[in-house]
Amino acid sequence: MEQKFFEDCSLQELGYAYDLDIPNSTSCSYPEPSPDNSTIIYVDKLHHVKVSFCGCPFNMGKACCEQIMLNKWPPAMTERPKTVCTFCALELFHMLSH
Ligand SMILES: [Zn+2]
Repeated sequence: MEQKFFEDCSLQELGYAYDLDIPNSTSCSYPEPSPDNSTIIYVDKLHHVKVSFCGCPFNMGKACCEQIMLNKWPPAMTERPKTVCTFCALELFHMLSH
């Protein structure tokens, strides 16, 4: 007898890519996918997902690190960031540490 259950998997395994767009703009016309998967530290768990950076000309070549910071995801490293922590996770950590 075959049992059917949901299996936990990452967003990246489902083919999802998070687009880092400029706030108040439409979807990006020139997405630049990151070569590596990114780890996002959120309040519930670590999420492994592919991130697409904005390559639009009006973006004026903002660095990957700057685009991540504008998305309120402080990166663990400034060179080729692969791990970020959301402001929500940082706020939760701050509340729990007092
Ligand atoms: Zn764009």
